[in-house]
Amino acid sequence: MSVSQLRTNARDVEDVRFKVAAARRILAEAGCESGVGGHVTARAEDHPDTFWTSPFEFFDEALPETVIKCDFALRVLEGEGRPSPSLAGHAAIYAARPDVNAVIHHHGFYVATLSTAYQSIGMYHLDSLLLHRAQGYYDDDGNPPVAPAKLAEAFAHCDVLLIANHGVMVAAESLEAATIVATVAEEAARIHLAAVAIGGKELSDDFAAHVVPSLRRSHIPETWEALVRRLRRTAPELFTAVLPPIGTRPAVAQ
Ligand SMILES: [Zn+2]
Repeated sequence: MSVSQLRTNARDVEDVRFKVAAARRILAEAGCESGVGGHVTARAEDHPDTFWTSPFEFFDEALPETVIKCDFALRVLEGEGRPSPSLAGHAAIYAARPDVNAVIHHHGFYVATLSTAYQSIGMYHLDSLLLHRAQGYYDDDGNPPVAPAKLAEAFAHCDVLLIANHGVMVAAESLEAATIVATVAEEAARIHLAAVAIGGKELSDDFAAHVVPSLRRSHIPETWEALVRRLRRTAPELFTAVLPPIGTRPAVAQ
């Protein structure tokens, strides 16, 4: 690989459009593929009342060049494509939580299964502690399904929301953190279901108090970097995009 290619890659992996596409590929590789109902959004740094996302697509087909920018009314400001109407829920969370810079929603098999039992994900594994005291439950009455205002209200009290008979939503301070927590939720739900079947015991609150701060400090950035390294092998097309500078690609009406 030439020096110029290395520089190009180094620049691109810090671009929010790369990160949104990479997060979607990471979710796919972690077993969180969700048809076209999975969503990854990242609040725009330059305009906090806007966010970046992808048009309707599978997690595993995401590319940096198809990532679009929307306002909270879901008008496309930059790029080409149609955002999911359900992103109104993400907009409502961003409006209500200034500390949140990324929101992810997926229908991973194990979180979707556990969500039918009307309970939260148990602390059966060390990594599960990323969800410790962060969870809420949304008992969806379908009127309307996953109502934006009710979502924002629920996220006033949690960062990880299990949605009944549906899946999970994660809100976090960064896209890296949202991605890792969203994948951990799926793995932790898988372990939960297996552990309950054999009478497994959960980690204690005291144990969590010792471990959670360092887990969040080191596990999230190190895991994100390792997962991006893996994407260089498994999804090299993510790293070949020639992206125009942000703000120079006008919206294309759909
Ligand atoms: Zn969904």
